Amino acid sequence: MAGKFDEWFGVPRKEIKWYPSIDPAVCVGCGLCFMTCGRNVYSYDLNSRKPVVANPYNCLVGCTTCANICPVGAIDFPSTEIVHDAIKKNKIIAKVRDLVPTKVQFMQEQQHENDIVKKIK
Ligand code: SF4
Ligand code: SF4
Repeated sequence: MAGKFDEWFGVPRKEIKWYPSIDPAVCVGCGLCFMTCGRNVYSYDLNSRKPVVANPYNCLVGCTTCANICPVGAIDFPSTEIVHDAIKKNKIIAKVRDLVPTKVQFMQEQQHENDIVKKIK
Protein backbone atom coordinates (compact mmCIF):
# COMPACT_ATOMS: atom_id res chain seq x y z
CA MET A 1 0.00 0.00 0.00
CA ALA A 2 1.32 3.44 -0.91
CA GLY A 3 2.31 5.61 2.04
CA LYS A 4 1.24 9.24 2.32
CA PHE A 5 4.86 10.45 2.07
CA ASP A 6 5.80 8.30 -0.95
CA GLU A 7 5.56 11.16 -3.43
CA TRP A 8 6.35 14.87 -3.47
CA PHE A 9 4.12 16.65 -5.98
CA GLY A 10 3.98 13.48 -8.05
CA VAL A 11 7.72 12.76 -7.86
CA PRO A 12 8.68 9.45 -6.20
CA ARG A 13 10.11 10.63 -2.88
CA LYS A 14 13.08 8.26 -3.12
CA GLU A 15 14.33 10.17 -6.18
CA ILE A 16 15.07 13.16 -3.94
CA LYS A 17 17.94 12.44 -1.58
CA TRP A 18 16.85 14.89 1.12
CA TYR A 19 16.99 13.65 4.69
CA PRO A 20 18.93 14.27 7.91
CA SER A 21 22.10 12.56 9.06
CA ILE A 22 23.31 12.57 12.65
CA ASP A 23 26.89 12.75 13.84
CA PRO A 24 26.77 10.27 16.75
CA ALA A 25 29.99 11.68 18.21
CA VAL A 26 28.32 15.09 18.59
CA CYS A 27 24.75 14.01 19.49
CA VAL A 28 24.04 14.12 23.24
CA GLY A 29 20.86 12.02 22.93
CA CYS A 30 18.46 14.67 24.23
CA GLY A 31 15.65 13.35 22.00
CA LEU A 32 14.47 16.77 20.82
CA CYS A 33 14.67 15.78 17.13
CA PHE A 34 12.83 12.51 17.80
CA MET A 35 10.07 14.23 19.79
CA THR A 36 9.68 17.17 17.40
CA CYS A 37 9.57 15.61 13.94
CA GLY A 38 5.93 15.12 12.96
CA ARG A 39 6.77 12.59 10.27
CA ASN A 40 8.39 9.82 12.32
CA VAL A 41 11.67 10.17 10.44
CA TYR A 42 13.45 9.25 13.68
CA SER A 43 13.20 6.33 16.01
CA TYR A 44 15.07 6.34 19.32
CA ASP A 45 17.39 3.61 20.62
CA LEU A 46 16.89 3.42 24.38
CA ASN A 47 20.03 1.30 24.80
CA SER A 48 22.46 3.66 23.11
CA ARG A 49 20.31 6.67 24.07
CA LYS A 50 20.59 8.05 20.55
CA PRO A 51 18.09 8.80 17.79
CA VAL A 52 18.17 6.79 14.57
CA VAL A 53 17.17 8.03 11.10
CA ALA A 54 14.72 5.18 10.59
CA ASN A 55 12.46 6.53 7.82
CA PRO A 56 14.60 9.02 5.89
CA TYR A 57 12.18 9.47 2.99
CA ASN A 58 9.39 10.55 5.31
CA CYS A 59 11.34 13.79 5.70
CA LEU A 60 9.56 16.79 4.22
CA VAL A 61 11.56 17.95 1.21
CA GLY A 62 13.38 21.15 2.17
CA CYS A 63 12.58 20.97 5.91
CA THR A 64 15.48 21.49 8.33
CA THR A 65 13.58 22.00 11.58
CA CYS A 66 15.37 19.27 13.53
CA ALA A 67 18.79 20.60 12.50
CA ASN A 68 17.75 24.10 13.53
CA ILE A 69 16.67 23.04 17.01
CA CYS A 70 19.40 20.49 17.79
CA PRO A 71 21.22 22.09 20.74
CA VAL A 72 24.65 20.80 19.71
CA GLY A 73 24.46 20.99 15.90
CA ALA A 74 24.64 17.24 15.40
CA ILE A 75 22.20 17.09 12.46
CA ASP A 76 23.21 17.78 8.89
CA PHE A 77 21.36 18.01 5.59
CA PRO A 78 22.62 17.89 2.01
CA SER A 79 22.90 21.09 -0.02
CA THR A 80 19.55 22.71 -0.91
CA GLU A 81 20.74 22.41 -4.53
CA ILE A 82 19.23 18.91 -4.38
CA VAL A 83 15.81 20.44 -3.72
CA HIS A 84 16.18 23.20 -6.30
CA ASP A 85 17.33 20.70 -8.94
CA ALA A 86 14.31 18.48 -8.20
CA ILE A 87 12.00 21.48 -8.51
CA LYS A 88 13.45 22.38 -11.92
CA LYS A 89 13.74 18.86 -13.30
CA ASN A 90 10.18 17.90 -12.38
CA LYS A 91 8.51 21.22 -13.23
CA ILE A 92 7.22 21.46 -9.68
CA ILE A 93 6.41 25.18 -9.88
CA ALA A 94 3.83 24.64 -12.64
CA LYS A 95 2.26 21.80 -10.67
CA VAL A 96 2.12 23.87 -7.51
CA ARG A 97 0.56 26.85 -9.30
CA ASP A 98 -2.24 24.58 -10.50
CA LEU A 99 -2.82 23.29 -6.97
CA VAL A 100 -2.91 26.66 -5.19
CA PRO A 101 -6.60 27.46 -5.92
CA THR A 102 -7.63 24.02 -4.62
CA LYS A 103 -5.84 24.62 -1.33
CA VAL A 104 -7.28 28.13 -1.01
CA GLN A 105 -10.78 26.72 -1.52
CA PHE A 106 -10.14 23.89 0.95
CA MET A 107 -8.97 26.34 3.62
CA GLN A 108 -11.97 28.60 3.05
CA GLU A 109 -14.31 25.63 3.41
CA GLN A 110 -12.57 24.58 6.62
CA GLN A 111 -12.86 28.11 8.00
CA HIS A 112 -16.53 28.13 7.09
CA GLU A 113 -17.05 24.82 8.90
CA ASN A 114 -15.17 26.11 11.95
CA ASP A 115 -17.36 29.22 11.99
CA ILE A 116 -20.50 27.06 11.91
CA VAL A 117 -19.21 24.83 14.74
CA LYS A 118 -18.42 27.93 16.85
CA LYS A 119 -21.95 29.28 16.30
CA ILE A 120 -23.51 25.93 17.33
CA LYS A 121 -21.43 25.73 20.56
S1 SF4 B 1 18.40 17.02 18.87
FE1 SF4 B 1 20.57 16.75 18.40
S2 SF4 B 1 21.52 16.18 20.36
FE2 SF4 B 1 19.32 15.92 20.60
S3 SF4 B 1 19.02 13.74 20.12
FE3 SF4 B 1 18.67 14.90 18.22
S4 SF4 B 1 20.67 14.88 17.19
FE4 SF4 B 1 21.03 14.29 19.30
S1 SF4 C 1 13.67 18.13 8.61
FE1 SF4 C 1 11.61 18.26 9.34
S2 SF4 C 1 10.54 16.50 8.45
FE2 SF4 C 1 12.73 16.15 8.18
S3 SF4 C 1 13.34 14.90 9.91
FE3 SF4 C 1 13.69 17.03 10.52
S4 SF4 C 1 11.80 17.75 11.51
FE4 SF4 C 1 11.36 15.82 10.42
